[in-house]
Amino acid sequence: MTTAEKTLFTVLRAETPPVPALPPVGQFIGGKFVPSTSSETADVVNPATEGILMQVPAGTVEDVDAAVAAAVAAKAAWAATTPRERSAVLLKIADIIETNRAVFETLEAANTGKPEAVAEDDISSAIDTFRFSAGAARAYSTLGADDYAENHTSVIHREPVGVVGVITPWNYPLLMAAWKIAPILGAGNTLVLKPSEQTPLTTLKLAELIAAEVPAGVINIVTGPGRVVGNRLSEHPGVDLVAITGSVGSGQKVAAAAADTVKRVHLELGGKAPVVIFADADLEAAAKGVRSAGFWNGGQECGAACRVLVHESVADKFTELLVREISEITVGTPGGGDAEIGSMISKAHYERVLAAIDEIRKDGLTIAVGGNAIDGPGYFIEPTVVTNVPAGAPITSNEIFGPVVSVETFSNDEEAVTRANETIYGLAASVWTKDSARSLNVPRKLDFGTVWVNSHLVIATEMPWGGFKGSGYGRDLSSYALDDFSRTKHVMYNRG
Ligand code: NAD
Repeated sequence: MTTAEKTLFTVLRAETPPVPALPPVGQFIGGKFVPSTSSETADVVNPATEGILMQVPAGTVEDVDAAVAAAVAAKAAWAATTPRERSAVLLKIADIIETNRAVFETLEAANTGKPEAVAEDDISSAIDTFRFSAGAARAYSTLGADDYAENHTSVIHREPVGVVGVITPWNYPLLMAAWKIAPILGAGNTLVLKPSEQTPLTTLKLAELIAAEVPAGVINIVTGPGRVVGNRLSEHPGVDLVAITGSVGSGQKVAAAAADTVKRVHLELGGKAPVVIFADADLEAAAKGVRSAGFWNGGQECGAACRVLVHESVADKFTELLVREISEITVGTPGGGDAEIGSMISKAHYERVLAAIDEIRKDGLTIAVGGNAIDGPGYFIEPTVVTNVPAGAPITSNEIFGPVVSVETFSNDEEAVTRANETIYGLAASVWTKDSARSLNVPRKLDFGTVWVNSHLVIATEMPWGGFKGSGYGRDLSSYALDDFSRTKHVMYNRG
């Protein structure tokens, strides 16, 4: 284990951390909080202080069954609402989050250890997601009715899938819930959502605040472990589609458990985004881009700019600029000044990231800056840049999901594309160049669901987010998400 050695970074701490408004205790089923069928609970921890915020039920199979029954009971009436009626509910949810944004931001920051600026961005994006889906649900249409066989007229109906099981991760708890809830409800489905064990608080708070606005049973929240609650949602015969945002391993388990009932699966999994920097790029802009997109949310971000591939002729210059940028990053608790990055999400994850840094040292790679734990309390790790990384080193393919960026070099365009694609992941990538032909051609050759040119990690609610290969096959955001949570039915009328 890496221990705190001589450190360039210290943790800026808030003198009096704000006290978050906690949600009620219980499972949110059929429009109200009810006790779990088990008395077992799980601690929800503030990872920046290591204090326990509250205990939530460690839910059971029976809790999931009750929630699915509520979602099934609500399904027909919600599916029968018009797009305008569903849109009104989504707009109301957006307004409630906006009215209570300080509550959500404080709670999210306390539960994740993320800086205020990141929590603010999360909540703003969650609001925007509900507003977008409210509009998109009304504008969504299918092919017009027409004749394709003699004397027959074809009509396409877009229907809800039914009951959707949702499993969310801990890195953006409310935002990842919003990315699912908004299009799922907009398309006319009901849902049962299981938040991450570590970060259920803002999702439960949302349920508390919107309970009076959403018909009972349309949204249900069950807290508990993935292997119990998540697994039951995946295998449950009453669930028509299961959607998970999480690691590749969890996605594989969900897909396997879903196979018996042949339910649809929507997977948003991990990433290891390459940042391909050509010799003609604006190197200062690229270094600043990696500072913000590689270390946003402490690098606990599936699209993080974590794997730099830079042309060998400018590698020294770029590395110098990057190291200077990263040395300036401030680390802190929520409310502890203008910190750029906060803590890791949990002790277990902090230990995983430190173990990965130990492996990097053992592999003989250069840690140009950072590389250590920072004194606690709280699970803080220095922003870290690793250089002299050879092709095929484990760090080029393993998702660390922390404040660690690696730098490799390449010698020509073809090698850059081949190496960037040498990963099981296919979520996101970026290309940095001033050459217009390269900026048009290279993105076409990259096997990633999102490719930025001279930018990284800018997300637009109107544009789809999702991966290829090991990163899964669902699409969040945009009207493609409405597609994913709908089914099409062809009705053919014989006019003879
Ligand atoms: P995780 O896979 O550990 O957990 C995600 C969720 O899956 C949790 O709610 C967990 O309880 C549940 N889960 C675990 N085992 C399960 C099982 N057997 N059956 C059903 N559910 C189960 O991931 P995490 O650590 O919370 O989040 C980090 C991961 O999520 C990273 O790999 C990251 O890249 C990925 N991620 C992807 C996106 C995206 O949009 N593609 C967004 C955010 C995070």
